[in-house]
Amino acid sequence: MSYALRQNILSSSKYPIKSPYSMTPQFITVHNTANDASAANEVKYMISNNNQVSYHVAVDDKEVIQAIPFNRNAWHCGDGTGNGNMKSIGVEICYSKSGGMRYALAEENAVQYIVKLLKKYGWGIDRVKKHQDWNGKYCPHRILSENRWNSFLKRIEQAMKPATPTQPKEEIKMANSLTSTAKEDLRALLKTTYQKGILKVDHSGKVGSMTDGEALGLLISVVKRTL
Ligand SMILES: [Zn+2]
Repeated sequence: MSYALRQNILSSSKYPIKSPYSMTPQFITVHNTANDASAANEVKYMISNNNQVSYHVAVDDKEVIQAIPFNRNAWHCGDGTGNGNMKSIGVEICYSKSGGMRYALAEENAVQYIVKLLKKYGWGIDRVKKHQDWNGKYCPHRILSENRWNSFLKRIEQAMKPATPTQPKEEIKMANSLTSTAKEDLRALLKTTYQKGILKVDHSGKVGSMTDGEALGLLISVVKRTL
């Protein structure tokens, strides 16, 4: 993870303007700020002014800053008291106006943070919406203008998958299933193969981090190739 997570929470005295309703979140809404300010400055501005505009989280290339608790609503979808404003966590991705590397990093941090939220709530990718889905506004503008909404979702889906353990190769499985006598024969064969110059490295002993099974598996694959 390449971002710091922190909070700069809206004062409850501003709830009537910025977050008047309690909320059980059901969705995540993705925005681009259409600005070139950092997450710290976006949040500072949002929580200090008295506009009926708000969101839960701003993300830039370094930080993810939460400004409103997720059990309260925010005004970020332009859909009145629709599901966007009333049931979704608003995530603003910073630096979208000019783009470039800091925007790319901010977007990647948003991907990682959205994955974290989906896992926290036990949600699937269907919970991730773009601002445009709620009221038609062209937002997140940079992701849309670069025609990357579907690939943005795919990146989230990909990042949600647990790392797949490396499957043992078929020949290693075969080697492991041999009797100890057969393994000894294979070791001898491996040595011979090396001595005849078919193999560059002597795999009859353990080489580097190779396990016995891997060395034997390698031999089997060599034998199969030379038959
Ligand atoms: Zn938006």
